[in-house]
Amino acid sequence: MSQLQEDRRRIIKTLVLAGFGIHLVGCSSEPVPLPEKSTETKPIEPEILVEEIEEKTTSNNVVYLTKEDEQFDSLATYFNKFTQKNPSIIALVSNTEGVAEAIAYAKELNMPVSVKSGGHSFEQFSSNNGGLVINLSLLNTIEWKEAEEVEIGPACLLKELYDELLPKQRILPAGSCGTVGVGGLTLGGGYGFFARKYGLTCDNLVGVTFVDGNGKIHELSGNNELLWALRGGGNGNFGVATSFRFKTHPAPNHFSYTRLKAKQLDRERARTLLETWFENAHQLPEDCFSAFVLNGKSLTILITHFETASPKLKEMVDGLTELCDSVTSKRNSDVAGALKNYYGIQHPIYFKNASAGYYSTFSDIEGCIDEVLEKVVSTPGLIYQVNTFGGAINKPEYTEKSSYPHRSYHYLSELQSYWNEGQDAKRDRYLTEFEAIQHLFYENGNRAQYRNYPSIGFKDWESAYFGENYERLQAIKQTYDSDNTFRYPQSVKLPE
Ligand SMILES: Cc1cc2nc3c(=O)[nH]c(=O)nc-3n(C[C@H](O)[C@H](O)[C@H](O)COP(=O)(O)OP(=O)(O)OC[C@H]3O[C@@H](n4cnc5c(N)ncnc54)[C@H](O)[C@@H]3O)c2cc1C
Repeated sequence: MSQLQEDRRRIIKTLVLAGFGIHLVGCSSEPVPLPEKSTETKPIEPEILVEEIEEKTTSNNVVYLTKEDEQFDSLATYFNKFTQKNPSIIALVSNTEGVAEAIAYAKELNMPVSVKSGGHSFEQFSSNNGGLVINLSLLNTIEWKEAEEVEIGPACLLKELYDELLPKQRILPAGSCGTVGVGGLTLGGGYGFFARKYGLTCDNLVGVTFVDGNGKIHELSGNNELLWALRGGGNGNFGVATSFRFKTHPAPNHFSYTRLKAKQLDRERARTLLETWFENAHQLPEDCFSAFVLNGKSLTILITHFETASPKLKEMVDGLTELCDSVTSKRNSDVAGALKNYYGIQHPIYFKNASAGYYSTFSDIEGCIDEVLEKVVSTPGLIYQVNTFGGAINKPEYTEKSSYPHRSYHYLSELQSYWNEGQDAKRDRYLTEFEAIQHLFYENGNRAQYRNYPSIGFKDWESAYFGENYERLQAIKQTYDSDNTFRYPQSVKLPE
């Protein structure tokens, strides 16, 4: 290795050790043990790998790390400890060219490639067993462009995004969790408090710098087939997005909430509350978001808004107040401060979460909801959440420009469960109930699912995530990743 290469490698290692750009790891209080090697892809002998990699460290654009490197484990740590994987090589890139070099190298080694931005994939589709992971942690900058557009690195976290935009009185509709990465969020859709007013995160995407699976660099904008695919169907399927350009919107001057709570629910009361919630949520204006969150026997209903409170909002709160045990409301003119309340846990944890279907009305789930609610109220810690959807998300202009398919629905639901290390019995109970509920929804015909809330257990995941757009995505895969270099259990497959 030349002096220059050694210096380069040392500098990047120092940045990594200092926590620069590696946000999740910085929050972790304990090391994450890596599981046994899997046979998914046969790893290359470590000795040979180290030698080859030393030779390969020939540019300023990428550093290859193996298990011999002390910071490898930190970089291989993800938000979900339950789905931890065991890659052979991490390519820590510092720019777009580094991504192209890493793809070429993986092709030489005939290794599958995964790509990590914020590392929040429920199923850890941003890692693999025995392959190469392109780690984008160092690509996390935000730069203002003309016309109030911003250029954002894929590993920029949502809390960093809000910290930059809100003081400048601008907003990008994105998710609520502070440590989710812009990369994965945008490429799978991107949904949160502002989506019913301004669309999904991917609907606000005007340009992308992209390295395809064949190693070619593209500057995408306008009406482009690959850009269409990246708006909702882009998670690790065709290559790597190294930079996103978004339009922004004026930030609101307040962000206010009402929170209703009810405790000790049995199935009947939970059902009455859910039906009442559906009836009212349907009428909410576009600046409102609401979530029905049933955690075992405890219910929280959240309703937020950021414009003038409408009579429909008041009607909903009044109707639900009669049925709940408590209600609190707050108008918050510190929007940045208000959003921080929803950032959630910021260090790696054990969990199983998944989409539980998109719905148009309560009648979509009427056939199975009693059984679902019975399971939830009898399992403390198992969470069934339904969120309002619709509004601007269903604008025809967004539909045409994106592969994101599920725009006509009014609700998006999810299942969640969390446990600590060593709580195997609790975990197993959650997983059993989880699977049973997924089966109930599937048999009831609730089959459309959100790609950013994936589950390895989804049957027919191709149509569940991508609807009628799957075949078109396969054709794009053929053009831009013809060797299927980017692959994981639920990646878009090459056409047969
Ligand atoms: C606690 C928590 C809260 C969440 N809250 C929300 C929410 O409010 N709204 C919402 O819509 N979603 C939410 N999600 C889901 C989230 O959108 C997805 O998990 C998202 O894919 C995470 O992106 P990431 O970059 O952090 O993850 P990663 O694990 O890095 O990536 C996720 C997927 O995208 C691919 N990918 C990432 N970056 C790139 C890139 N640059 N180029 C190509 N492919 C890439 C990966 O290969 C992987 O398949 C939440 C998830 C968690 C765990």
